Amino acid sequence: MARYNGPECRLCRREGMKLFLKGDRCYTEKCAMNKRPYAPGMHGQGRKKVSNYGTQLREKQKVKRIYGVLETQFRNTYEKAENMQGKTGENLLSLLERRLDNVVYKMGLAASRKEARQLVRHGHFTLNGHKANIPSMLVSIGDEIVVKETSKTSPKMKSLVENFTRVVPNWLNVDIEKMQGKVVALPTREDIDLEIEEHLIVELYSK
Ligand code: SF4
Repeated sequence: MARYNGPECRLCRREGMKLFLKGDRCYTEKCAMNKRPYAPGMHGQGRKKVSNYGTQLREKQKVKRIYGVLETQFRNTYEKAENMQGKTGENLLSLLERRLDNVVYKMGLAASRKEARQLVRHGHFTLNGHKANIPSMLVSIGDEIVVKETSKTSPKMKSLVENFTRVVPNWLNVDIEKMQGKVVALPTREDIDLEIEEHLIVELYSK
């Protein structure tokens, strides 16, 4: 599956905000947004007038980058959101939030979404007792996500549990000691603590 492999901090600098793509480093002084809070490249510090289209495009890029989704998959998710009842922008964010890799990250079992994606791909989790190694799988109410028995003793998992500080969203019920969690509701817009103006994405795709 295709994914972005370039420098992550560059993406934050391009979007002008912390996207928290590097786990613990994002919360330290080493964060590139503390040191160079301007766009990368030669003209990064120049002032630019941004068109409506540019603003909408940046908002879409921001969301794609936060969730680590490339264009085709993002577009497919958008189309799915469009066919659901309710506001398309909110549906889009809810669908992205329900991705298995995001759920693992939100449960505190990975330092970043990127790490969560890798752990899922490597088969460290089960969903309702079955092997789940597809990061884009969507969870539903009642689903149980558990670290595989053989993975529970890995130093990586132990360290994540020992250093657990994550505030788990209301729509997930997590027992970090048991390394498991349950989806108790679907995420609503209020549950998603991202500074995103999702209506701009809807406007962009509605052109
Ligand atoms: Fe973004 Fe994290 Fe890099 Fe800071 S350290 S610029 S938040 S990826």
